[in-house]
Amino acid sequence: MIERRKTRQVQLGDERVGIVKIGGDAPVSVQTMTSGYTYEINSCVAEINRMAAAGADIVRVAVPGKKDTAALKEIIPQVSVPLVADVHFHFGRALESVEAGIHKIRLNPGNINDRKQVEEVIAACKEKKLPIRIGVNEGSIIERKDKQKRLKELGGVFSDNKHGHFLAIMITKLEEYLDIFYENDFYDITISAKSPDPTLVIAAYTEISKRFDHPLHLGVTHAGPKETGTIRSVVPLGHLLAAGIGDTVRISYANDPVYEVEDALEMLYCLGLRERKGVDLIACPTCGRIEVDLFTLVQQVREIMADEIELPIKVAVMGCIVNGPGEAEGADVAVFAGKQRGIIYVQGEKVATVPEAEILTALLEECKKFEARVKAGEASLGEKVVDIVPPDPIGELGSGIEKIAAGQVATLTVEGK
Ligand code: SF4
Repeated sequence: MIERRKTRQVQLGDERVGIVKIGGDAPVSVQTMTSGYTYEINSCVAEINRMAAAGADIVRVAVPGKKDTAALKEIIPQVSVPLVADVHFHFGRALESVEAGIHKIRLNPGNINDRKQVEEVIAACKEKKLPIRIGVNEGSIIERKDKQKRLKELGGVFSDNKHGHFLAIMITKLEEYLDIFYENDFYDITISAKSPDPTLVIAAYTEISKRFDHPLHLGVTHAGPKETGTIRSVVPLGHLLAAGIGDTVRISYANDPVYEVEDALEMLYCLGLRERKGVDLIACPTCGRIEVDLFTLVQQVREIMADEIELPIKVAVMGCIVNGPGEAEGADVAVFAGKQRGIIYVQGEKVATVPEAEILTALLEECKKFEARVKAGEASLGEKVVDIVPPDPIGELGSGIEKIAAGQVATLTVEGK
């Protein structure tokens, strides 16, 4: 059980979209961002609802122009999750977003740093009880307008101690920015300190977590394509979360945002930071002992179970019985493959032997039956009814390595066939 750092809780949302709490004792929430233009109202609503269906708790939208903030008035009533407005360089977009009914604002000291403007946004959010995220991200933290300041800050970036330099700038600017909020008696704040550099992400959030009790929005920005971005994101974010740091998460891929939501949720499930929805699937890796098309089967199981099973049933798809029973220990439903066949167990009890072509259907059927029993209170998840008795490798699985090698078996049959 991970002990999480205690933070000052903020909340966003309303009665219609629901209230999402961030920090304190709230579960770690998952965020993502739309990829289309906000002013294209129908496609923006469709994308937000697709993200919500995938499990996003909060969705951010970009509002660089007045036509985007104008669109918010029509978008907000049609979605089912709280929305955050990313206001880019203009504080006016923040004020318009608040007016339109947005649930949270994201401000960036690198983009909006005029004290009067920041104070106007704070006043508008305070009146509507909206939180603000302050993003001191690597990409926008270096001074842009003042050339002397820029030269000085950039100099450090190209020094040998790039990380130390960035950390100093991030924390200094964060402190200066936070002072404006504190002086205006505003504390409904979350903080992000993203970078594409995973080690800087770990260092930045670790340092910030020691200094401030505001909830932290974790992220690795510009993580790249999903194929490599998964590792780039999950390594530092998993590290921080396992250390109890982080209250809300966004994974950032150059891909469909639904992947961001799915992968963030899976990371949180794996760390025990969210209650799993749907099947918890384990399966064999590449292994010379597998005698069925296991990888195709595993993908099919994953896809079909995502649509058909709601409860977090632990399902094991194992390639053989050599290590299978041990590795599937604790699975609610398990299949052990043999030579072009599979034997299915439910909580340790053998329930079916089927040829390879029927494994998927039979496994789904057993999962559905088991789920119905759990829902009816006749069975419990994670309970072992009996110890798994491994099937006979010759008669049942047809893959008895020693006997086959010794030529003791000529033909093999599947039970009941
Ligand atoms: S259970 Fe069998 S097939 Fe799967 S990894 Fe272990 S030895 Fe290989």
